[in-house]
Amino acid sequence: MRTALDYFLELIYFNTTSNENSTTYPSSPGQIEILRHLAGLVEELELETTLSDKYTLYGRLPANSPELADLPPLGFIAHVDTSPAASGEVKSHRRVTYTGEPIVINAESNLTLSAALFPELDKLVGHDLIIADGTSLLGADNKAGIAEILALFTYLQANPQIKHGPLRLAFTPDEEIGAGTRYFDLELFDAAMAVTVDGGLCPEISCETFNAAGAVVTVRGRSVHPGTAYKQMVNAATLAARFAASFDPLDTPEETRERQGFLHCDNICGDVTTATINYIIRDFDIDSFAERKEQIRRRVEEFNARYARTDIDAPPPFSVEIKDQYLNMRSYIEREPTILRLLDRAFAAPEITPKLIPTRGGTDGARLSELGLPCPNVFTGGGNFHGPYEYLSVQDMERAVELLRQLVIAHADSVAL
Ligand SMILES: [Zn+2]
Repeated sequence: MRTALDYFLELIYFNTTSNENSTTYPSSPGQIEILRHLAGLVEELELETTLSDKYTLYGRLPANSPELADLPPLGFIAHVDTSPAASGEVKSHRRVTYTGEPIVINAESNLTLSAALFPELDKLVGHDLIIADGTSLLGADNKAGIAEILALFTYLQANPQIKHGPLRLAFTPDEEIGAGTRYFDLELFDAAMAVTVDGGLCPEISCETFNAAGAVVTVRGRSVHPGTAYKQMVNAATLAARFAASFDPLDTPEETRERQGFLHCDNICGDVTTATINYIIRDFDIDSFAERKEQIRRRVEEFNARYARTDIDAPPPFSVEIKDQYLNMRSYIEREPTILRLLDRAFAAPEITPKLIPTRGGTDGARLSELGLPCPNVFTGGGNFHGPYEYLSVQDMERAVELLRQLVIAHADSVAL
């Protein structure tokens, strides 16, 4: 029976780097190649297989027991592309047992995997790690997820005595450039709930993303020749600089982590006549998210009160437009919380205590949750994604497959609930 590791090593040599500058979908030919290859593998596993014209691969496996046939289908999702942040052309790989001593990935370029640099390695002493040769990323993000999903269906095919409900899988392109769900066909996928198998180290799981908004502050100035500007000029550029400097310097991406939100000045540009400041606002908590938006509106009013020039009949210089971008996926998942209950049971069986990690960014799961498909993210067993230090624990990969198996069992058991 093929294991997750067998599948993974078969997939890492497909170069599937996505390309932000491409005008095609998917954004690179390697993704089409791997998806065609995967369609063959999924068919071998006797799933009803569709590779859509937009190159998302869907697989459907009906329940193998009549009393489970009407269960709301459970889906598994992973993405085929790798991050454009590093080369996706894997030249070779090694399997190394991590003893706690640093592992030299590439002596020439001085790349060493060590707990001094990556303290989370302390938990992986005794694990077998798969690494590339330091000239590329490894691609565990997210080929490990694909391999684990394939290993799950391989196991179910080999063990027909395990009763399961209707199951679905989907492999998507271009997730790393934010386009993984652009053409996702929820009808074709036909699942009522799903997990993305796209997380990091065991036992991480994520049901949360930021609440996100963008704010554009516009400053209108009054341009007068500098030589005769006395009490006449309103300089939009300097007012914008003062406005930007008026916020807490510790409330920024570079000074926050974990569950902390931030206000990020993404872009500022302008001249005497007009200036704009672009902000992104991020917060896990919906109330303090609202408060952050209010804070910007209040600051605009304060600055207008301070800098409006009623004496020369100039309009208030500051205005702001704030638009919501996405909401914490937890709010959507909690409306359809069955998947959370199933995950609880799935984690309880092998006695793994899940570690809830808030995702500090948007994910395909967030988008799908918003579209009505509740979609938490579970670990793959990989670490240091998007760069040459990337590794994958063989043991944690097996634990990921075990978690998926338990999820299938919890799903089947839910018919009795
Ligand atoms: Zn990923």
